[in-house]
Amino acid sequence: MSEDFREIDEMTNEVIVEDKDVNVTVEDDDDDYEQVCMICHRPESKAGKILTMPGNLNICTDCMQKMFNTAEQFGLPEMDGFPGFVTKMEIPIQQMPKNAKLTDSTESQGDETSDDEKGKGKTSGNPFQNVRFINLNDFGLGDMGMPRRQKIKKKKENKEPKKFDRSEIPAPHRLKAMLDEYVIGQEKAKKTLSVAVYNHYKRVCATPEDGVEIEKSNVLLIGPTGSGKTYLVKTLAKLLDVPLAIADATSLTEAGYIGDDIESVVGKLLAAADNDVEKAEHGIVYIDEIDKIAKKKQVTTRDVSGESVQQELLKMLEGAEVEVPVGSNSKNGMVPMMTVDTTNILFICGGAFPDLEEIVKERLTTQSSIGFKAELRSRFDHEKNLLTKATVEDLRKFGMIPEFLGRLPVLVSLEALSKEMLVQILKEPKNAIIKQYQKLLAMDEVKLEFEDEALGLIAEKALEKHTGARALRAIIEEYMLDIMYEIPKDSNIGKVTITREYLENTGGPRIELRGQIVEALPGN
Ligand code: ADP
Repeated sequence: MSEDFREIDEMTNEVIVEDKDVNVTVEDDDDDYEQVCMICHRPESKAGKILTMPGNLNICTDCMQKMFNTAEQFGLPEMDGFPGFVTKMEIPIQQMPKNAKLTDSTESQGDETSDDEKGKGKTSGNPFQNVRFINLNDFGLGDMGMPRRQKIKKKKENKEPKKFDRSEIPAPHRLKAMLDEYVIGQEKAKKTLSVAVYNHYKRVCATPEDGVEIEKSNVLLIGPTGSGKTYLVKTLAKLLDVPLAIADATSLTEAGYIGDDIESVVGKLLAAADNDVEKAEHGIVYIDEIDKIAKKKQVTTRDVSGESVQQELLKMLEGAEVEVPVGSNSKNGMVPMMTVDTTNILFICGGAFPDLEEIVKERLTTQSSIGFKAELRSRFDHEKNLLTKATVEDLRKFGMIPEFLGRLPVLVSLEALSKEMLVQILKEPKNAIIKQYQKLLAMDEVKLEFEDEALGLIAEKALEKHTGARALRAIIEEYMLDIMYEIPKDSNIGKVTITREYLENTGGPRIELRGQIVEALPGN
């Protein structure tokens, strides 16, 4: 059978399972999928037996029982004689689709009553005239493959749980070598992360029989903006081939308040794993801007987006069973829920911690000063990369609660990028920006080169922006616009060299025609 894929119907928030191969229809008894009750949205594994009603409507026995009880209470004649064929059932009005037709209880035996007749008081004598019922066949889903929409992938419970294969995880030195191909500098961070990740997956595979339980090695990444925190995590997940979810801590709030619930983070991971719970349970969650949930100083109201979020994250970081809506980031009655165990999910939190440098400076000054405080302070003023000296105590002062820090035992700090590192980032990584432009022009059979001085100038300009390597692309794109526009005009051009003069607007790029060198056109 061909590979299935699923998507979310934006209008209804339903998980739609479709088959890529149009010639193959998904059979009802497909072993990989389980039915979902259309009323309570619990899958077969949770709700027990699911009955398929005429019109291919799936209802669990609990909901069926509830319907009987309600019917009995109201003494509805049309439910007499069930089981047999039921064409009408009541379901809570709130769950009805907008296009479903409403009928009075008195019309319920399948007779087609027009809207006009409904308004004429036909209900006299019926004590339930204000109770309205819906004919489930009016959903019009019968032939549209309702079962397909009501199925979610089965969690393989009876089979031996699939063990994460440790041999798939490269040893730390190999992992670091792979990271080296993409990430420039940050040697300590790459080394620490490689070891932490390797240990994490060892822990996932370890058997606790001898009583030694390996603790989780969640990671806290601190480093200036644009120094490669997100990039490092993304690259790592790609190399390990595990699902990755990137969430922003600024959007998280305590449950019940406006904003995303904590569980939404795991929901994103489940989506990244194609709703495959087992895959998601071995994934990586990266929570960015974690410094924004520091305890607020001097708050008079409840700190719903700060300390409370840290408190709520505690359980999840340690390992908890989290109920997440499938294919949606909000829980509501229409979305099926799934339970994800976070015990083996690696959580990496990252942030720029802007004021942490001051705290570190203060500590270092007090620690090593006996009478020379002013002199020392000025020494630290010029010290770069003070963040690499940060300790857990400094982070606590910054506003992170001790319990939270305790659950992120691996502290990794990234250095601010220097001019030399920025130049390397421009040309060395596997998918370096310059390599991308070279590839684009190579398609026009034109060779592109940058003079070292030109690269240096781009790096200097990026440094001025204080956004790390993020600024590089914007700067280079501005200069490359004319080149990318003009060069394809002339098919004789064989090579372009970007010079510092061109970037400084005092000259032009060096153009070589196929076979001869020609001095550049005047600058732009
Ligand atoms: P942040 O630290 O703010 O999360 P990012 O990881 O988003 O920064 O970095 C932005 C971009 O800069 C990345 O997509 C990547 O292309 C580039 N970059 C940053 N640091 C490095 C690095 N050390 N090596 C290679 N590229 C980097």
